[in-house]
Amino acid sequence: MNLLITGGTGYIGSHTVVELLKLGHDVAIVDNLANSSTQVLPRIEQITGLSPRFIEADICDRAAMDKVFSENAIDAVIHFAGLKAVGESNDIPLSYYHNNVSGTVTLLEVMAEHKVKNIVFSSSATVYGENNQSPLVETMPTSATNPYGQTKLMIEHILFDLAKSDPEWSIACLRYFNPIGAHESGLIGENPNGIPNNLLPYVAQVAVGRLAQLQIFGDDYDTIDGTGVRDYIHVVDLALGHVKALESLDKIDGCQAINLGTGNGTSVLQIVEQFKQTAERDIPYQIAPRRAGDIATVFANAELANNLLGWQAERGLVEMITDTWRWQSQNPNGFE
Ligand code: NAD
Ligand code: UDP
Repeated sequence: MNLLITGGTGYIGSHTVVELLKLGHDVAIVDNLANSSTQVLPRIEQITGLSPRFIEADICDRAAMDKVFSENAIDAVIHFAGLKAVGESNDIPLSYYHNNVSGTVTLLEVMAEHKVKNIVFSSSATVYGENNQSPLVETMPTSATNPYGQTKLMIEHILFDLAKSDPEWSIACLRYFNPIGAHESGLIGENPNGIPNNLLPYVAQVAVGRLAQLQIFGDDYDTIDGTGVRDYIHVVDLALGHVKALESLDKIDGCQAINLGTGNGTSVLQIVEQFKQTAERDIPYQIAPRRAGDIATVFANAELANNLLGWQAERGLVEMITDTWRWQSQNPNGFE
């Protein structure tokens, strides 16, 4: 297939591009490099022996997007492009609504004009809000607690309405749980700007000596050891979930939300312990107050992805952490 991958130089996008190239798909990436760099492109080529076409453009730029669709015969889009920092979204909500929501509407309008009506969208488990009990099932009510989550929810609503209005659209909203890990080559991985917000990049930077110690946000939750529990999923499993979703678009009636998670929960302390063993490094930590907006336990019911896409996560926690550590230790300063 001829595929357009928005946000394809980012963390999840780059791993998905690798899997798509390996399968022989023709891949064009659109990215404005707001949170990534072109340094990932030679790494993708090193892994696959193939290079995707790269177009530096903003999805909000209608003329640029129109040119992309005029010059490339696209069959389907995987739409990763977006801003994703929850804390930052509270400070600059308009940038998040503009970039994520308006950018997606522009992309969808241009797609419709060019009669490209197949799209896989990066949604998030954040749309389950605070009031549902894990395991989280796609039919549960959705809500959002911050502007970032609102953008994901709004885009889901837009995609459901679009599919309802025109049966030619096939849309998969993939609700990711917590992507971690890196490609087994150690050549590509997560490369956050500044101090990481997410647990795994933070722990990895403590292990490599870039950060002094981890703050564990709360040890008094009602969980196995009092620390927060999440459903960590290997980024390569996630990438393969996109491949399966693409291959299944013709089976999807309208717009379908699908969880991509493992169905297993792991606590912060369990992550720290596993990282210590894998990296053979100490991970100094301190118990800190709970982080505002955090909930105790989040994990997926992953049955729908299995039934509908024939996909399930294959990689366990040891592999996730081994691959995170290989990437971090071989690239202590990311792609620089
Ligand atoms: P990332 O920041 O590494 O990748 C996103 C890419 O989109 C970046 O390369 C960035 O430069 C690009 N981008 C942003 N705005 C753009 C625009 N207007 N035009 C063109 N390119 C633009 O993030 P990621 O972790 O790979 O996440 C990919 C998607 O998955 C995002 O939509 C994110 O919200 C979603 N998601 C991520 C997680 C996670 O924990 N990583 C969890 C759930 C959902
Ligand atoms: N966490 C932590 N210290 C950090 C970052 C995260 O203790 O520096 C905890 C957080 O409270 C949550 C878990 O690790 O219980 C995963 O957090 P992350 O931000 O990675 O994912 P999310 O909370 O968005 O699922």
